[in-house]
Amino acid sequence: MTILHRTSTIHQALLVLVAASSVSCASNPEAVTQTAARPAPSIDPLPRVSPVDATPVPGVEHRSSVERARLDVLHYDLSIDLRRLDDTVMQAVARLNVRPSPDATYVDLDFVGLSADSVLMDGAHVSFSQGPEILRIEPDAGFSETVRIEIFYGGRPLNGLFFGPDPAGNPTVFADNWPNRARWWFPSNDYPEDKATAEFMVRVPPGYSVVANGRLVGVDGDTWRWRTDVEIPAYTLVIGVAKSERATIGDAACGMAPAAVDGGECAEVSTWALTGSGAYGEQRFTRAADMVDFYTEMFGPYPYEKLAHVQSSTQFGGMENSSAIFYAMGAWAEERMGEGVIAHETVHQWFGDSVTPARWSHLWVSEGFATYFTAVYMDARDGDGALRQAMEQGRERIVGSDASNRPVVDERPDLFGLLNSNSYPKGAWILHMLRTLIGDEAFFGAVRAYYAQHRNGVADTEDVRRAMEQASGQDLTGFFEQWAYSPGFPKLKVNSAHEGDEMVITIEQVQSEDWPTFRGARLELEITWDSGDVERHEVWLTSRSDELRIPTRGQVATITLDPNVKLLMEAVEDPPR
Ligand SMILES: [Zn+2]
Repeated sequence: MTILHRTSTIHQALLVLVAASSVSCASNPEAVTQTAARPAPSIDPLPRVSPVDATPVPGVEHRSSVERARLDVLHYDLSIDLRRLDDTVMQAVARLNVRPSPDATYVDLDFVGLSADSVLMDGAHVSFSQGPEILRIEPDAGFSETVRIEIFYGGRPLNGLFFGPDPAGNPTVFADNWPNRARWWFPSNDYPEDKATAEFMVRVPPGYSVVANGRLVGVDGDTWRWRTDVEIPAYTLVIGVAKSERATIGDAACGMAPAAVDGGECAEVSTWALTGSGAYGEQRFTRAADMVDFYTEMFGPYPYEKLAHVQSSTQFGGMENSSAIFYAMGAWAEERMGEGVIAHETVHQWFGDSVTPARWSHLWVSEGFATYFTAVYMDARDGDGALRQAMEQGRERIVGSDASNRPVVDERPDLFGLLNSNSYPKGAWILHMLRTLIGDEAFFGAVRAYYAQHRNGVADTEDVRRAMEQASGQDLTGFFEQWAYSPGFPKLKVNSAHEGDEMVITIEQVQSEDWPTFRGARLELEITWDSGDVERHEVWLTSRSDELRIPTRGQVATITLDPNVKLLMEAVEDPPR
């Protein structure tokens, strides 16, 4: 995604929002009326649902990997009644095809803030219990290999699915799940490593449209049906309900996308703007289909059936939901969206959505890729040194960030804290330096191979390392140890002195001892003599102090470190004069 505000602001704002919601609309199943879309169960399940009495902090991991490995969700089928938009309530049935682990006596689904009324397994009522974070299903007879679980539930979502007005005052509903807030509006195995196909049946008031992942199956009166046959992670599984103006931008990835909407072989690229914002949408997204074509050629086949760019209420500048990217409502309405956010979210369709971080601690394999290849697109299409400029700006952010004291691969439990300069620009810098180290042919070959191998799956830093090593024949263990698994970057202090006929240039690494000594990195120096002559030289960093000896040509006027912006480093003193 792209970040709209500073990380701390996002987190604080979210917490305030949740706290306020908890007070004003505590979950109350009795207040929810039955609808035709939701048959009332004839037998009361045991035990009865206890009121949801606690509000977990969104964005913090609660379950261990062992616990959540107890099941694999294969498919989500969500029937959601949103006809009472003004009341901000939903009625829903979630039907999940699930494969529990062979020895499981229960399965736990993540489910927060809404109340389940009844649960069926393979058509029969089954015992369940609900805590503040978990819906536990515990059948007396255990499980078969795969089961179909139906959960009837409803209430006012406190997070994950947001009700609110569009700029014209019309109600809207948009999901915003990252990183683990899907559980606030549907029972799920809400972790990036468990991907599933999904279908949606959403009932809305007259005049409203529904956008979701995958392809539009059909519209029948007030009911919209969408379906994705590509497995996606729960955090990108979304619906959006609004009075929208849909416009087609163009076809993309022709012959290189899954069977697409309307039986075509291309992925349709479209905009879904709120009423009144359609013209700006079409104008802003002029190159949206070109981006899909560009990245299809660079990475491999586009992973999804279509790509909708949706004006929404996401808290982020953009959120890369699979095949239905959500953008911040205000920036779109006020016509101040940058094009970079469109490229960034488009890259995520391959890296983030299709190749998903296996664990949040490896978020850079999503955000670093999106950041880097945005700059690559802008550079290829617009020139003007867009890549160089992006890397310089990224380096400034990294050098000035406290996050640099932590490694890029970061096991912190606070997931919103990962939206920092490590995951974004430092992740991009890792790719940029790999490209310099192994060359364009090996680098882009590795990116294609990595996508092909992990498409519709998950990957982590080690998978990136292996792909780059296989393409280049180089051992990159040390590179990743320094740049991904350790904090910091080289802080370089340069001095020069005459020694006979030689000029001795000393490069010291003066970063703190808590940061590694960087070895195997190539530093370019541009030396300008007082005669005006300019020379380029290279030094491989091998220790805390390296030196370069060159024949003297008078006095050194300036030494410029890294003139081509190839190394993540900070020059800690002005070059000598
Ligand atoms: Zn992103």
